[in-house]
Amino acid sequence: MHPDSPHDAWSRCLEIIRDNISRQSFRTWFAPLKAVSLTEEEGLRKLTVQLPSRFYYEWIEEHYFALLRKTVTKVLGPNGRLYYDILIESPQAPGTATPRERGGDSNSAGTTVQLPARPGGAPAPPPNAGVPGVAPPSRPGYPGTPPREPVPPYHQPASPTNPFVIPGIRKPQVDPNLNPGYTFERFIEGDCNRLARSAAWAIAQQPGATSFNPFLIYGGVGLGKTHLIQAIGNHAKLHGHADTVLYVSSEQFTNQFVQAIKDNNASDFSNFYRQIDVLIVDDVQFFSGKEKTQEEFFHIFNALHQAGKQIVLSSDRAPKDIVGIEERLLSRFSWGLAADVQLPELETRTAILRRKAEDDGIRVAPEVIDYIATNVKSNIRELEGSLIRLLAHAALHDREIDLPLAREVLKDLIKDIRITLNVEEIQRITCEFFEIPEDLVRARTRKREVVRARQVAMYFAKQFTEQSLKSIGLQFGGRDHSTVIHAINSVEDQIETDPRFREMISDLRGKLELHTR
Ligand code: ADP
Ligand code: MG
Repeated sequence: MHPDSPHDAWSRCLEIIRDNISRQSFRTWFAPLKAVSLTEEEGLRKLTVQLPSRFYYEWIEEHYFALLRKTVTKVLGPNGRLYYDILIESPQAPGTATPRERGGDSNSAGTTVQLPARPGGAPAPPPNAGVPGVAPPSRPGYPGTPPREPVPPYHQPASPTNPFVIPGIRKPQVDPNLNPGYTFERFIEGDCNRLARSAAWAIAQQPGATSFNPFLIYGGVGLGKTHLIQAIGNHAKLHGHADTVLYVSSEQFTNQFVQAIKDNNASDFSNFYRQIDVLIVDDVQFFSGKEKTQEEFFHIFNALHQAGKQIVLSSDRAPKDIVGIEERLLSRFSWGLAADVQLPELETRTAILRRKAEDDGIRVAPEVIDYIATNVKSNIRELEGSLIRLLAHAALHDREIDLPLAREVLKDLIKDIRITLNVEEIQRITCEFFEIPEDLVRARTRKREVVRARQVAMYFAKQFTEQSLKSIGLQFGGRDHSTVIHAINSVEDQIETDPRFREMISDLRGKLELHTR
C-alpha cells in the first residue's frame, strides 16, 4: 500500500533515510524538511518537500541523490518523484565553499525542482549546462537567477535584442532579471554601507523622484554592491513603485548591443532600453575601452534621465578612478549620488554571519560565529563562503559545527595570522600548554613529556612561521634539520592514529591562534 498523505509518505521516506545515514547527517539535512504535497500528475506521484534554503538543495542533490531516488521508489512506487520547494532563495555564496561550483542553475524561490530525473549516481552536470530534471522557471523568457558571475545574455530566438521581454503580451513586459534573494530585508546595515543603503532605500520608494539620479554605488569586490542595487529593483517592483525594472551587468548590456549590431537591429535595442523605468547596470567599469557601447549607453542614459526614469549603477571604484570611459559619460555618473561601500567592521560581520546561518536554517554556536567574524575580514563574500565551507565539512565528515572544526576547516583562509607568531612564542605557548618549563624544549633532556612538547612546538613552528627547518632546529637548542623533520613526521603520525592526541593538537592550535590577535 502506498501512502496517500504527503506527511505519511515523507515519514516513511525519513525512516528509510535514517537507517542509511549517520545520526548527525540525518539531523542536519533531513530532520528540518517538511512534506508539502503529494499529487498525481501524468501518471507520476509527486511528493514535494520544502527545503529551508538553496544550500540544502545543493547539498542534498550532491550527496544523497542515489539514496533519495531509491527511497522514493520504494515508498511511492516506480512512478514516484520527489520535488523540492525552496523556501528562501539564498543568494549563492562563493564556489570555493560550496561542495561543487555550480553556475547558472535557475531554481529560485518557490520553484520546484524534480530530483530523480538525473540518472542515479551520475556526476552532476557542469555549471551552466542546465540541470536535467530541474523544472523550468515558471515564466517564459526569464533569464534565470543571475549567478554571481556575469553570464552571457539569454538569447530568445524570437527577439534577440530584447532578451528580457516576455513575448505574447501587447505592452511588452520586461522581466527584471533580478535575483529575488537580494532584498533589503536580507541586507545587514552597518557603518560600512549606511549611506549607500539609506539612499538605496529612498530610491526604492520613489524611483526617479529623488535627487539621487543616477545613483552609483562603488567599492571593492564582495561588499554588497550587487545585492544592494538589486534590492532597489526588487523592492520597487514588489511594491508597485515601478512598472518596468531591469537589471543587467554591463557585460550583458555590451554583449546584447554587439549582437544587435550584428543582427542589424540596433534601433530595437535602443527602443527596448528606453522603456525601462528603473535601469540597473552592474559593474560599469567594464564599459571601459568599449567606445561604441559607451556611446549607446550615453544616449540611453540621457533619454531615461530626461524622462525622469531612475538609473542605478555600480562600479568597483570611484568614478574619478575609472579609466577608459569617456568624460561626458563619467561626468553623468556623478550627477546624482555616488556612495561607497567599505569593508564591514566586526559587528557587521558578526551580524551577517548570524543572519546567514539563520537563513540557511542551521544552528551555529556563537563562538564559531565570533571566530569567523574575527578572522575573515577580506569581504562579505568570503565571510559567507567560510560559513558555508564549514557547514559542508561538518556534514561531510559528520562532525559537530564547533570551534575546533572551524579552525581546522578555515585554516587556509585564516592564514595571515601565522606570520605574526615567532618560534619563541610558539615554544612559550606550547610549554605553557603542556605545563613544562619553557627552557626545557631547548635543553638536552629526553624526558617523555619534554620530547612531546618539543616535537609539537617544532611542528607548529613549521606551520606558523616561514622559517627553514634548519633555522627552526637551531632555535631548539641547536638541533639539526633532520631532527625537525623527524618531529614533524612523528606529530603527523600521532594526529593520524590517536584521536586524543589530535584533539589536543587542535586545542593547542586554537590557543596559538588566539595569542596572535
Ligand atoms: P559585490 O557586488 O560588491 O561584489 P555582492 O553584492 O555580490 O558583492 O555581495 C557578495 C555576497 O555578500 C552576496 O551573497 C551578498 O548577499 C552578501 N552581502 C553583501 N553585503 C551584505 C550585507 N550588508 N548583508 C548581508 N549580505 C551581504
Ligand atoms: Mg557585484
